[in-house]
Amino acid sequence: MEDQEKSLKIEEDGRDSQEEDKDYEKVCYICRRPESKAGSMVSMPGKIYLCHDCMQKAFDALNQNGMDLGQIPNMPFMNLNIGDLSNFMRPDMSIPKKQKIKKKKEEPKHYSIQDIPAPHQIKHRLDEYVVGQEQAKKVMAVAVYNHYKRALLGNQDESDEITIEKSNILMVGPTGSGKTYLVKTLAKLLDVPLAIADATSLTEAGYIGDDIESVVSKLLAAADNDVEKAERGIIFIDEIDKIAKKQQTNTRDVSGESVQQELLKLLEGSIVEVPVGSNQKNAMTPMATVNTDHILFICGGAFPDLEEIIRERLRKRSSMGFGGELKDTFDQDKQLLTKVENDDLRKFGMIPEFLGRLPVTVSLERPDKNFMMKVLMEPKNAIIKQYEKLLAYDEVKLDFDETALEWIAEEALKKDTGARALRAILEEFMLDIMYEIPKDPNIGAVVITRPYLEKRGGPRIEMRGTMVAAESAYSRS
Ligand code: ADP
Repeated sequence: MEDQEKSLKIEEDGRDSQEEDKDYEKVCYICRRPESKAGSMVSMPGKIYLCHDCMQKAFDALNQNGMDLGQIPNMPFMNLNIGDLSNFMRPDMSIPKKQKIKKKKEEPKHYSIQDIPAPHQIKHRLDEYVVGQEQAKKVMAVAVYNHYKRALLGNQDESDEITIEKSNILMVGPTGSGKTYLVKTLAKLLDVPLAIADATSLTEAGYIGDDIESVVSKLLAAADNDVEKAERGIIFIDEIDKIAKKQQTNTRDVSGESVQQELLKLLEGSIVEVPVGSNQKNAMTPMATVNTDHILFICGGAFPDLEEIIRERLRKRSSMGFGGELKDTFDQDKQLLTKVENDDLRKFGMIPEFLGRLPVTVSLERPDKNFMMKVLMEPKNAIIKQYEKLLAYDEVKLDFDETALEWIAEEALKKDTGARALRAILEEFMLDIMYEIPKDPNIGAVVITRPYLEKRGGPRIEMRGTMVAAESAYSRS
């Protein structure tokens, strides 16, 4: 009789859940994260779901500790015979019958060309965050627009003889000129997943290091393991100049030319099997199939000796034409990288097939003083604006003298790491300001002066309710 009741109850539950399942999302039995957070779930008997991460942890534990999966918290059922469903009814198993988490009602987003802003709009939005680099922003905006046009509309008609080729991008620019920042901003404004990988960590399959496909794994992770989302994402491979062909070498070139060779297929579009939730391939890792055809690849590098190669070419060209009068111009030209041509890159050690897969070349200008000052002040989330906002919470106005800004830019230029140096310099002296100013609630404004930065005086302080400005008593030590 009791058994009958129990089975009736189970049937009822089953019907209930069938009706309501569409309103609930699956929740991982181990980590309790819902599908929307943890990605797709593996279903097990008894309405138990496991996310790929926990599945992976279980397999790892299996490898390390033998068969005792019961060691994993909340996973006692792994020691059971899964076929024996009656065991799941044991009260100590605490298997949730139903996970009361409402599924988000929003439909999966289907991208259309209307979602991709026109090039001038992309450029306009980039302008809000990325200062200078006008030509680079323009070229990128067009390349990205064309890329998504091809991905979303192009090559649908098989009979059409014109096939649009991929417009992957090669970015050439000195350290700290904003290569990574530009790509990050672009991915954010297009709302597509982004993976950033370092070419130096990539090695030919079978060697120590990350294999080439690991970049796709990263993108899949950035897309919350959603293959469709990953397939319209962006992969940025930084330090690409480090995998240039070695000029003379007797040893096997595992991280240079051969890595370029292996990247070819990914860049032009191929179907790869990548592990989900881990970059380790083993027999038990769940795998996903990703087509890289619509993934936009952007490769970036500082190409340190490239300037000399360009200078050499320009010199040769000018000596064939108007004589040596332009020689000095090239010696002093700080923006030589913007004159890069494919031949220069080939000479540098990039193989022609590789360059062929990156048909759009973007070069970024070397940061100068003016650029540095703009980076400090102009972007929507400029570092100085962030400090201004922090002090505004204390109702204190923060200002910088023009000469103080110049000092910061000059100091940053000395470090030769581009705009990257700015934050560290600012943080160093702003620490005292952020510490001292809130001590006195009468302070209404603080102006950072050049003497203060040069440790020859204090900042200018203005007291609340008065027009009195005073040199602060404290200075930097
Ligand atoms: P790169 O990748 O070229 O070495 P990054 O993109 O990492 O340089 O730049 C370092 C930091 O400098 C960025 O995080 C950003 O804050 C700042 N930066 C660099 N270039 C610009 C720029 N053009 N506009 C605004 N900020 C920039």
